[in-house]
Order: sequence, then C-alpha cells, then structure tokens
Amino acid sequence: MRLFRCACHSGLSYWSNSARAPADVGGGASLPRTGGPVDASVLADLAAASRILADQGVVDAFGHVSMRHPHDPQRFLMSRSLAPALVTPDDIMEYDLNCDCVDAQGRGSFLERFIHGEIFRSRPDVMAVVHSHSPNVIPFGLVKTPMRAMFHNAAFVARGVPVFDIRDKFGATDMLVGNADKGVALAKVLDDKDIVLMRAHGSVATGPSLPVAVFRAVYTEMNARLQFQAAMLGGGGDIAALDADEGALADKVNLSSASRAWDLWKRRVGF
Ligand SMILES: [Zn+2]
Repeated sequence: MRLFRCACHSGLSYWSNSARAPADVGGGASLPRTGGPVDASVLADLAAASRILADQGVVDAFGHVSMRHPHDPQRFLMSRSLAPALVTPDDIMEYDLNCDCVDAQGRGSFLERFIHGEIFRSRPDVMAVVHSHSPNVIPFGLVKTPMRAMFHNAAFVARGVPVFDIRDKFGATDMLVGNADKGVALAKVLDDKDIVLMRAHGSVATGPSLPVAVFRAVYTEMNARLQFQAAMLGGGGDIAALDADEGALADKVNLSSASRAWDLWKRRVGF
C-alpha cells in the first residue's frame, strides 16, 4: 500500500491513496475540506524552499512561502507561523483560498497568509508565492525610480514591477496584509506580473512552480543590489537594462534552468 503524509497533520498520520481523504478530516462542518493527501516529497520541498530563502538572505525571522495544493487548485500549503529557517515538513498546513486552515491542530497561522490566498485565487497560473522583506528591495517601494532588469537571471523584472501602496485604499494601517480585502487589493496591483513591491514593507514573488518562485525571490533581491551599484557607478545616468523583448527571451531560459539553482540551494540546506 502506498502511503502519503497528510498535509495538515503533524507528521504522524498517513493515508492510503486508494481513496480520497475523508471529507470530514478537517474536523467539522465549519472547516474546509482537505484537497487530499500530499506526498511527503512535496512537504519536504516546501520546507526546503523556506530554508533556502533564509539561507539566501531573502527572509530572516519573517517572510513565508506557499504552494498550491498539487491535487486541488482551491487549496494551498504553507507552514505554520514560524521563522523560515526552522520550518520542517511537519509544520506544513493546508488552507482553502479564504485562508481558513483545514486542520490547524492548535498551531498558529501567518497573519499575512491572505497575500497567498488571494493571489492563488486571482491567478490560476501561479503555483507558488514568496513574501519577503528582503532589504535591498524595500527602497524601490519608497521612491519613484522603477526597478529594472539588471541581468538575465532577473529577466522577469523586465515585464514591469508594480508597487502596492496599502495607504491608497486603506489609509493608515499597520502595513500588514492581514485580511482578505488587503490581499485582494495586493493581487489586483500584481495583476499579471511576476513580482510586486509593497511600499515600506517588502515584496512578493510568484511563479509557475515552487523552484521558479524561489528563484525569482532570490534574484529580485540580487537585482535590487545590482541596480544600486549600477546607479552609483553610472553617476545617476541611464542604465542599459534588459528591455521587454530581451526579458521575455531570457525568462524562457530561466524557466527551464531554475532547477539547477534549486538543486544546489536544496543541497546547501540539507535537503
Ligand atoms: Zn510582510
């Protein structure tokens, strides 16, 4: 009998794949139903992604990564509220797109999970989402200078980088995307782009797979650093960044080669 680890349990529960998980596994009528059992390798990859982002300097004590449930597009997987470098497969929980947890078992959720739920809802093509406060990116949400693609690995930047200002719709806030309305507003500003900056807060990177979303989060941070350097070196003059056509061509290569970085980064964090 093949065994699968339940995405919403603490690591002790296994189900057969001969039948869909019981509909009432969520624990009650008011809780969302599970999208079904998830292979242990999926949970390990999501835990690895969290640790990679910490190892690469994209997240610190804060920030999070999620992925769409592999068998149910109306569900997504995400760690319980925990520093990213500490996440293990047993910390992964399952949510519906309203960001209600299927079976929290007393574990806490990230306040800003609505970033993830509302992007998954509005963008069927997005399979993974990274939210971070990576330091070199934040200034680009504060000034009028747009982020541009400094090199081929950051080709997705050439598609444009919108900036979400939470103040526009919600006035003075704690800056956090802590409910569905704010998540909807953020997803609307992201629109069809790959990344969005959040004024005085951080950024979000998306991708058609977990490795690509992680790749984009890492190279968004690196691109920001390089743009500072180019601006200083050039004395504020024009920067010969990738244009939209170059970006589209280079991004195709990145989509197929992101696995090389993923394999390396996974090894570095012991997965
Ligand atoms: Zn945040």
